[in-house]
Amino acid sequence: MLYPMKFNPAQNIQNLQFFGEFGGVNPSIEDSSTYTFHKASKMEEVFEKEIEGCYLYSRHWNPTNRYLSQALAKMENTESAIVTASGMAAITCTLMQLCSAGDELVCSRMVYGGTYAFLKNVAPRFGIKTHFVDITKPELVAKAITPSTKLIYCESVSNPLLEVSDIKALSKIAKKHNIKLVVDNTFTPLIVSPANLGADIVIHSLTKFINGTSDTVAGAICASNEFIQQLIDVHQGTAMLFGPVMDSMRSASVLKNLHSLHLRIKQHSSNAQYLAEKFLEEGIDVRYPGLSSHPQHKLLLQEMNAEFGFGGMLVINVGTKKHAYRLMERMQQDNLGYLAVSLGFYKTLFSSPGSSTSSEIPEEEREAMGLSDGLIRISIGLDANIHETFQKMKNCIESVLEVPA
Ligand code: PLP
Repeated sequence: MLYPMKFNPAQNIQNLQFFGEFGGVNPSIEDSSTYTFHKASKMEEVFEKEIEGCYLYSRHWNPTNRYLSQALAKMENTESAIVTASGMAAITCTLMQLCSAGDELVCSRMVYGGTYAFLKNVAPRFGIKTHFVDITKPELVAKAITPSTKLIYCESVSNPLLEVSDIKALSKIAKKHNIKLVVDNTFTPLIVSPANLGADIVIHSLTKFINGTSDTVAGAICASNEFIQQLIDVHQGTAMLFGPVMDSMRSASVLKNLHSLHLRIKQHSSNAQYLAEKFLEEGIDVRYPGLSSHPQHKLLLQEMNAEFGFGGMLVINVGTKKHAYRLMERMQQDNLGYLAVSLGFYKTLFSSPGSSTSSEIPEEEREAMGLSDGLIRISIGLDANIHETFQKMKNCIESVLEVPA
């Protein structure tokens, strides 16, 4: 009996074969901002349309960025991709490419604070209006669409409350209205493959799990050839004209880190799953999509590439801001991780989203979403002894909660 081949994004990356200039096992790094032409007429042609193997200027394309982009397109099963200097650059270039003055978009109310701030404070200055909705209710998304809507925007698993988007349902709505579905997959690389579920454009902050070493800021847009061509169009493309080019040295190092992503993600996920289950047993208020108590646990089970687990992010609620602050300081003192924003590092990272990464969201809206001051967002590290980590964390939580806020 023939079984349909399971999609394996990690294997797709590994199947690529890039040789360095002298047969090196890593592709050579192209350390040039500009490129020569034998013929002046060829230069003129490249200004008009992309010619394979022909480079003009590194802000437009460079070979090193192309290697990383190709690997990311394989991972996301899209025709093409382009890397950018940050995740925010990937987001803003995509949105500004798709929207003009007078256009609207429908966005999850629960997205990374920077995305929220851009849509709330900057995009309206260019005549772009956003309807923020509860993304877990696709019917509200459908209701918010008007004749001016150009796209639906969401995160596969949201920052910071770990809400799971029903990408298939959102894609149906987008297709019905002939608009784009844009999905930020930063929290769940390899775990969720949004394009396979119907997303048109997949965005990443490479800064997080994909690079995994907290040493650089970078982003990517994975999409059709047509959209990537639009982005780098010399006369009209936001990725070309806003200029968020990634440095090729960094691009080369992110590509090398990408090759161990599957191992890291599995370890992040299994550590987070273990801690979430233990926290639950101890009566600690924990939110993790791998727990059956998570409201979209079943949905993520249907969407995910199961072998990579439910991801490395979990959230606990210790009731008050004071308790949250004390606990984070205590966990850092006990070397359980760092009190730092960002995620996907080998060490555990924790922050209080209400007063940091989501502080752009007004207080009353945060309350409505359940983003309370006692929440701690934790990016679980690659801890080699997670049992010991749990015991230490439990001691920290108990001793901090003993003292009234
Ligand atoms: N998307 C998500 C889900 C994020 O968490 C972040 C940053 O925290 C970004 C995008 C922005 O990425 P960058 O910091 O690389 O610009």
